Amino acid sequence: MKYFSTHNQNNFVSFREAVLNGLAQDGGLFMPEIIPSFSKSFIENLNSFSFKEIGTETAKRFIGDEIDDQKLHEIIERSLYFPAPIVNLDENTHVLELFHGPTLAFKDFGAQFMARTMEYFVKDLNKELAILVATSGDTGSAVAHGFYGVEGIKVYLLYPSGKVSSIQEKQLTTLDKNITALEIQGTFDDCQDLVKKAFTDNYLKNKLNLSSANSINIVRLIPQSFYYINAIKQLKQNKNKIVFSVPSGNLGNITAGLIAKKMGMPIDLFIAATNSNNVFTNYLSTGNFEPRKSVQTFSNAMDVGNPSNFERIRMLYEDNIEKMRNEIESLSFNDEKTIDGIKEVYSKYGYIIDPHGAVGYMALKKYLDIHKQNKIDSVIVETAHPAKFKEVVENAISKEVKIPQRLAECLNKEKKSIVLDSKFETFKDFLSAN
Ligand SMILES: *Cc1c(COP(=O)(O)O)cnc(C)c1O
Repeated sequence: MKYFSTHNQNNFVSFREAVLNGLAQDGGLFMPEIIPSFSKSFIENLNSFSFKEIGTETAKRFIGDEIDDQKLHEIIERSLYFPAPIVNLDENTHVLELFHGPTLAFKDFGAQFMARTMEYFVKDLNKELAILVATSGDTGSAVAHGFYGVEGIKVYLLYPSGKVSSIQEKQLTTLDKNITALEIQGTFDDCQDLVKKAFTDNYLKNKLNLSSANSINIVRLIPQSFYYINAIKQLKQNKNKIVFSVPSGNLGNITAGLIAKKMGMPIDLFIAATNSNNVFTNYLSTGNFEPRKSVQTFSNAMDVGNPSNFERIRMLYEDNIEKMRNEIESLSFNDEKTIDGIKEVYSKYGYIIDPHGAVGYMALKKYLDIHKQNKIDSVIVETAHPAKFKEVVENAISKEVKIPQRLAECLNKEKKSIVLDSKFETFKDFLSAN
């Protein structure tokens, strides 16, 4: 399988190159030359495949012969080791729980697979790989956990100072070895800009072997399609329409879902649920894509003012907004509505949902209100464990949220971060010196 840049469709690279470079030289994002499809019999027999087998079958189609079956099997075994169960709120409303990984957010799926794949590819590099990750909260810790202790790879996490929750910050700043946390005095968008600039900086490019682990890296999207496919398997086979509501920020998660659909999964509609950072919601309603500065919300992992994966979605729909509107809706909810969502899910179903999932719930509810007449099976994608946002959730439901053991462990460790301002020169000097 070859990959092209969203900025130049005639410029192809191998899967390996797409993975190791993260971002194309021209600043575009990599896309597979075609979206592979599943055979009819695979789709009809999904039930007979385990989650790992689904992962292997899917990954194979994106990788081609660049990783042999035996090695791919190992990568899947070591990365897809936690489940993605569907929990029923009622007969037709489901939650896809994506927080059973080491850092309790869906990003573990992408990060684990990416780390194992890169680890495999760097074996024949003679220069250390420096991975830059801009994080609005959850990416950084997922990536850091994936790469922790991997030889030949150094990870720099850039996070916006004071704009991630205290638990998220602990997760970001308590790993040592090959992981360095950079606390940037700015917003998530500033962090993302610094990373993007580093990639187009000739000096840094020559001096360091840079790679990115943001959702701009295609190797993170591929494994995210696994759980959509596995979710379809878990839903009862019936004639109902299937709708996924995806809490969205940088639009990586929803892009993976759209890819799963394009591969042949029977998904009728995606709802991109956004918080007050609703650039994509506005785009679908007005046709104008107008990035702007992000604002801080309770669902902070979606506080993105210029969603990177928008370019990929445009590619998938050949830049045709009408086609896009047929398959994607987007609805936006502010913090007050987010709290209402947490409260309602708890009072109505006894289920504790996190602020991101709550935005997904509110969007779904609004959609279902309008489309009452249809028979719909809906899936709220629950992107993080509520304990990661303990204070917000507890205030909403007046009940204690238990912290899982794997999260509790990092809370007692000491925070270690390096504070930098948001100027590119500062970041460049730091990288050059390290
Ligand atoms: C990253 C994240 C999101 C947003 O996902 P995108 O792929 O950036 O759209 C939503 N919820 C949580 C908990 C996240 O960590």
